[in-house]
Amino acid sequence: TKIFEVRSLSYTYPDGRQALRGVNLEVFSGEAVAIIGPNGAGKSTLLLALAGLIPVEGEVLYKGRHLNGLKDPRRLEIGILFQDPDTQLFSLTVYEDVAFGPRQMGFSEEEVHRRVKEALEKVGLSGFEERSPHHLSFGERRRVALATVLSMQPDVLLLDEPTSNLDPRARKQFLELMKGLRLTRIVATHDLELAYETADRVVVLYQGKVVACGRPSDVILNE
Ligand code: ADP
Ligand code: ADP
Repeated sequence: TKIFEVRSLSYTYPDGRQALRGVNLEVFSGEAVAIIGPNGAGKSTLLLALAGLIPVEGEVLYKGRHLNGLKDPRRLEIGILFQDPDTQLFSLTVYEDVAFGPRQMGFSEEEVHRRVKEALEKVGLSGFEERSPHHLSFGERRRVALATVLSMQPDVLLLDEPTSNLDPRARKQFLELMKGLRLTRIVATHDLELAYETADRVVVLYQGKVVACGRPSDVILNE
């Protein structure tokens, strides 16, 4: 089934800068799509549009319907990992941060507990429950931020430059983590190895337009 259908999507920032120019895109259930392109190509803006966080020209359909503004309950089905993990961490312990989403969704403490354990296991941070997020490494904070999204069990995951600012070891760890995720996802990145290794399909954005799209081996030269 189709998760996202984007037609003639354009977006201009209030200062007049046009970030997206007539983007068409379809994403199917179970797919891992990488959006690649240089800085300023419009990748982050495209993710914001998919998440329904900015009003756009053209159409963004999520499971066949428009998201109905910020109050649409289906928005909870769309998880986003922002580029800066610190925008998603605000509690005193890792446990509280990862528990926050499912608690807001009204799950029992027992279910919240189960989800926290499962999410931390997925990101390789079992045992970090009582640690303070602010005393963890950047790579660990990014994985906690991902766990805060996974604990809500989204139907689709949007990730903005998830390997940026990671040292080589943390980056490898994140690549492996991504390979193990069974979740429809769209990752905006200029990390070509991440795209090549973890995506089924690559979409190349350039100056707000889709200029190429295809299997990683067809779009990216693997030297
Ligand atoms: P990418 O994620 O590919 O680096 P962005 O989506 O961040 O690209 O940016 C696309 C274009 O929109 C760029 O020209 C950028 O300068 C501009 N832009 C991004 N954010 C803003 C903003 N908040 N206000 C004005 N222009 C912006
Ligand atoms: P309760 O009030 O029953 O504890 P909440 O859903 O309000 O349930 O909060 C769950 C946990 O998330 C609490 O431990 C709380 O400390 C933390 N929390 C809730 N809202 C915020 C917030 N805005 N900033 C930081 N932590 C929060």
